[in-house]
Amino acid sequence: MTETPVPAGIPDHIRHQIAGKATDSVSGATFDVLDPATNRPYATAAAGTAEDIDLAVAAARRAFTEGPWPELPARERARVLHRIADSVEERGTELATLESFDTGLPITQARGQAKRAAENFRFFGDLIVGMHEDAYRVPDSQINYVVRKPVGVAGLITPWNTPFMLESWKLAPALAAGCTVVLKPAEFTPLSAGLWAGIFAEAGLPEGVFNLVNGIGEEAGAALVAHPDVPLLSFTGETTTGKTIMREAAQHLKGLSMELGGKSPVVVFADADLDACLDSALFGVLSLNGERCTAGSRILVERSVYEEFAERYAERARNVVVGPPQDPATEVGALVHPEHYARVCDYVATGKAEGRLLAGGHRPAHLAEGNYLAPTVFADVGRDARIFQEEIFGPVVTLTPFDTEEEAIELANDVDYGLAGYVWTSDLGRGHRVAQSIEAGMLWLNSHNIRDLRTPFGGVKSSGVGHEGGTRSIDFYTNEHIVHVAM
Ligand code: NAD
Repeated sequence: MTETPVPAGIPDHIRHQIAGKATDSVSGATFDVLDPATNRPYATAAAGTAEDIDLAVAAARRAFTEGPWPELPARERARVLHRIADSVEERGTELATLESFDTGLPITQARGQAKRAAENFRFFGDLIVGMHEDAYRVPDSQINYVVRKPVGVAGLITPWNTPFMLESWKLAPALAAGCTVVLKPAEFTPLSAGLWAGIFAEAGLPEGVFNLVNGIGEEAGAALVAHPDVPLLSFTGETTTGKTIMREAAQHLKGLSMELGGKSPVVVFADADLDACLDSALFGVLSLNGERCTAGSRILVERSVYEEFAERYAERARNVVVGPPQDPATEVGALVHPEHYARVCDYVATGKAEGRLLAGGHRPAHLAEGNYLAPTVFADVGRDARIFQEEIFGPVVTLTPFDTEEEAIELANDVDYGLAGYVWTSDLGRGHRVAQSIEAGMLWLNSHNIRDLRTPFGGVKSSGVGHEGGTRSIDFYTNEHIVHVAM
């Protein structure tokens, strides 16, 4: 029995939020939203088109030009952001239930999402108060001072993995900077985004500052990208979508922040603390159902410990509990959508010809329906394999041996992506050397994916353009305006 009842309070219809009101699409069009544990539709959502985007952008533009949000003292905006954070935290249980039901994430992992989302609001609320505007003095000649201004209406386009938290990662700095926004959440998972309007209204965010249009990427998303009154776009999603958006946005010379896909390496040297590394490398790719951009999905292991590592890793993977998302014992839940599930299963089929299957590779016998896959481990995967090169975005991992430090770095870098990387060794010098040689935006040495919000976040190569995080996010959502004064 895999079916979970629809949790209480879940709407059967999800709407846009434009100028402080819940609305349907002008066209009346809707799309079905599926429960990933059964693939049965549990709600419909308004399917936005260019007309709805026009309305949302007009509302955001009015709120920007008429104020007061962009001109409020930073402290005033920060107060609102802190109230938003409080409210998000208070709704932690509700949010976890919605998120787990809509995305298929294990409930225990969905529980952390509200805390992280709240922290994003707190952090950017504090940061904006502490930020200063620069002045440069040329003695007896000139003073140059810089005025930081919000750019305008920010278009925010987000993916379906940890949707609420990733939305907060864009909403918080955009609002802190004084922008007004139009959010286009992912069509697979529109449920939790419906919470924002209530949270924002309660916290005192003026009407029209936040607008949300649901819909299909190629329709609602594309209309937002093409809208001339949206001068900047923050996008998180697949690399191919990012390229399409860059092409379209180029016609309007829009500001872009692109957080894209990944195929991150975990490099394990023989002198590593193998127990800690095994736990971390398992969590790094199987948590969040493997649907995480920074997943360490390619594990490279020094040959002298390769067989031992592979055996122990596969053993752990086989013991991971796959089950209904709402069950607290579940460690890997249901993948988000049948289309994504089919794509991941195609990679598993490909992998059977490209590597040695050590664990998984099938639907668990006790889960007859829904998007379930047993954690899948392939060993002896060569660098040319598709499962080594391409982002799978599911509970699938490859193991590859290496002989030297140089070969490890070369293998780590031999993919198009460059988002994250993980290095395990007890040799301090080597750890730093390798960490600094891997082509990736973010590296973790003898540790995993814990972030300090002040640090840069972003990828290189096909994993992204631009960095967010800390003051970089505020830089993105503001323009610097310089006044030169002769003395
Ligand atoms: P996706 O690219 O399919 O969709 C992302 C968003 O873009 C959705 O809202 C979608 O509707 C919209 N979209 C699709 N086509 C569009 C178009 N032509 N114009 C405008 N908008 C369009 O990505 P996804 O499948 O939702 O998410 C998974 C991907 O996101 C993975 O590649 C993952 O690595 C990446 N991701 C990256 C990060 C990061 O920070 N680098 C974080 C999370 C996820």
